[in-house]
Amino acid sequence: MATAVINEYLDAHRQQHLDKLFELLRIPSIANNNDGACNTAANWLVQYMSDLGVKARVAPTPTQPVVMGHLHVSDAAPTVLVYGHYDVQPATPLELWNSPPFEPTIRDGNIYARGADDDKGQLFGYLMALEAYVRTDTPLPVNLKFLIEGEEEIGSPSLEGFLRENLTELACDAVLISDSAFFAEGLPSITYALRGVGNGEFFITEANSDSHSGIHGGTLRNPLHVVCEIVAAMRDADGRIMVPGFYDDVLTLTPAQRESWSKLPFDEGEYARSLGLDHLGGGERGYSVLERLWARPTLDINGIVGGYAGKGGKTVIPGQASAKFSFRSVPNQDPHKLMDAIEQFVAARVPMGMKFRFEVGSANPPVLLGQDTPAMQAAKEALQEVFGAQTAMICCGASVSVSEMFQRMLGVDAVMMGFGLPDDNLHAPNEKYALSQFYNAAKTIAATWAKMSR
Ligand SMILES: [Zn+2]
Repeated sequence: MATAVINEYLDAHRQQHLDKLFELLRIPSIANNNDGACNTAANWLVQYMSDLGVKARVAPTPTQPVVMGHLHVSDAAPTVLVYGHYDVQPATPLELWNSPPFEPTIRDGNIYARGADDDKGQLFGYLMALEAYVRTDTPLPVNLKFLIEGEEEIGSPSLEGFLRENLTELACDAVLISDSAFFAEGLPSITYALRGVGNGEFFITEANSDSHSGIHGGTLRNPLHVVCEIVAAMRDADGRIMVPGFYDDVLTLTPAQRESWSKLPFDEGEYARSLGLDHLGGGERGYSVLERLWARPTLDINGIVGGYAGKGGKTVIPGQASAKFSFRSVPNQDPHKLMDAIEQFVAARVPMGMKFRFEVGSANPPVLLGQDTPAMQAAKEALQEVFGAQTAMICCGASVSVSEMFQRMLGVDAVMMGFGLPDDNLHAPNEKYALSQFYNAAKTIAATWAKMSR
């Protein structure tokens, strides 16, 4: 059995793989830094992949380079694109780390280092799986392509342009991404939907500058008051957004969906306590926390600007006030339509004679990934086999634009099979990755490839 040979190889080379991962973790490849560390990490990956027979290269972008690679074994085999990122979040504040962020350390069955989970540790699982096939002379069941970027942690500014320029080279049958987490320890999970995110700001202007509240008080309208009235009108007492059309295209949750989410090991009380609260008072009434996070859109005011907010008093009537807002959209919603609806809602409430300006920031769409693609089925089964538990199909309230880009530009639905655990301290001090997840990830990836070739 090919699987047995692969798993034996992976078990026998645990220490070597750990040593190699540590080399990669020692490179402080923070996307924002131009100290050459990102180039070092990219070159390290190219070297490792080349040694395994991958045609790999460092491809420049306007900022940090992308690592590209491909290994073609057969025209009959499916082609899998592996996406990952070698850049990491900054490690500050350093004093809160129990061991240095760029000196990986093992404690209590975990690897502690910046990037241990996000995403070097998870990404390295693909290289381990490939190595196991190559070194045991087991025929690789899929053609492999790699796209490993160095700017994920700063929002992937070069990625869309890079994809556009390399569409032919990136053509594939499936995309695998491991940059997320299990819903809970022992519960393997695949993320199949993510919310979109949009943001903007609206400005309301009365007089051409701030005015004396004594000399002009009682004659001028106060833009801050107007902004607050508009903001207050945006939601009702049950947490429903009052912008007309805001929920028009939202997909209704099926009873089966609600049932399966309600069975996930999620404790609303514990969630509240983790935020420093006794109970959760916010959100849209009639939906559970997971339903609100995964299947309902939101609109939030992020900040209100205007007048004087410094120390002490200043008796002015602001000339202008503004509010910054953001919204999260759910699958089937068009973020541009939502943006227009918000603009109309605000515009309709601006008193006659006051000036109004609406600034659109970004409007990134939500993603719904196919749940019955061969790659998704293969990953689901592989996770189940290796971890010995049914794979949970979950969603994510936050937004990850890369899977949306692959869907839109390559026409392929990614499989987001993350191996992190919820308490891995991503982007925070003491980031960790469990050794058991690290070792089992490689086995799962190897098994996914084998199942995809059926
Ligand atoms: Zn990541």
